[in-house]
Amino acid sequence: TETRTTAAHGGAIGMHGIKKWFGNFQAVDDVTLDIRSNEFFTLLGPSGCGKTTLLRMIAGFELPTEGQVLLDGVDISSLLPNQRPVNTVFQNYALFPHLTVAENIGFGLKMLGKPRSEIDSVVKDMLKLVHLEGRGGNPVTQLSGGQQQRVALARALAPRPKVLLLDEPLSALDLKLRKSMQMELKRLQTETGITFVFVTHDQEEALTMSDRIAVMSTGTVRQVGSPWDIYDRPAERFVADFIGETNFLEAEVVAVSGDRARVRLSSGAEIPATFPADVTPGGKVTVVIRPEHAQVGTPSPASVLRGIIREIVYLGTDTHFHIRLEDGTTFTVRQQNARSGSCGFSKDDAVGISLSDDVAQILRD
Ligand code: ATP
Repeated sequence: TETRTTAAHGGAIGMHGIKKWFGNFQAVDDVTLDIRSNEFFTLLGPSGCGKTTLLRMIAGFELPTEGQVLLDGVDISSLLPNQRPVNTVFQNYALFPHLTVAENIGFGLKMLGKPRSEIDSVVKDMLKLVHLEGRGGNPVTQLSGGQQQRVALARALAPRPKVLLLDEPLSALDLKLRKSMQMELKRLQTETGITFVFVTHDQEEALTMSDRIAVMSTGTVRQVGSPWDIYDRPAERFVADFIGETNFLEAEVVAVSGDRARVRLSSGAEIPATFPADVTPGGKVTVVIRPEHAQVGTPSPASVLRGIIREIVYLGTDTHFHIRLEDGTTFTVRQQNARSGSCGFSKDDAVGISLSDDVAQILRD
């Protein structure tokens, strides 16, 4: 609907065989990623895994030791930051405190030598886009943290880059503001059509906003997929563990057919499981089951697992049951509280655990 702010198309980023050494420390180890035009793409991982370094190589602030960065199929590895149609929004906003809101937003365009009338017109559109109409004349220092973040976004979007890089842009905001800015960022991405590459260590933030997520660990990409893939079909232990709470169970493969296997749990029960790599009957595997995909009940022949409740944690919307299984391991069940009052179970109760259909995923070794 916003014709003036709609980019013709967002840029597609290719990172091919990227390695980055700082002296004798390797920060990025052979990363290959294809970020699609127009997508909200997130680099997710713990502190120090190399997210910011990857982002800085897309921006051109850092050069890869090996490998290429492509934009729409063209190698941009040797271009300076200001020669790339890429802009960055930083965590600390980096606004100019002595300038007004409008002057901050128009700054990049002024540097590009754009005429006054064009700058005024784009600034007006940007103020509208980030819901700061009428605030153009204010000193930025008079704005709240959330408003300053919007100015930083408007400033980065004003030159209509093909790609916007966002390095933990919401981490300075309090939780409530952060939630509303998440929605705001998603809207800005959809409305402008610009490719967003977002860096965060917050898994919930990544799941909420992204079209696709790359989960990183120690300089490598462990898995790339939609939020659903990453959460429901984690390929390996690191990904399953990093994205939300989970249960790991040792199991043995009984049969394999297509992309489904039957596995036998330590309780003797057999359940279906999906898998990301080759598995063979007789093989020992680890399966992942999310706590919300299991239910607690009185023990019965239908129970897949049995155990003793060690702890019940009431969390308002749902209740967590920490259960010690017969093999001594702990299993967590998260159940939604359908009604108020007691869940009907107490600590030390013997319970049976049943599973929703098709919820087990075998991990890659
Ligand atoms: P964070 O979330 O903490 O910012 P990150 O995943 O973004 O972490 P990077 O900032 O990319 O991680 O850093 C990856 C690793 O490379 C870290 O161990 C960091 O100390 C190291 N590193 C980054 N920049 C440099 C540099 N200029 N010189 C030396 N080491 C660096």
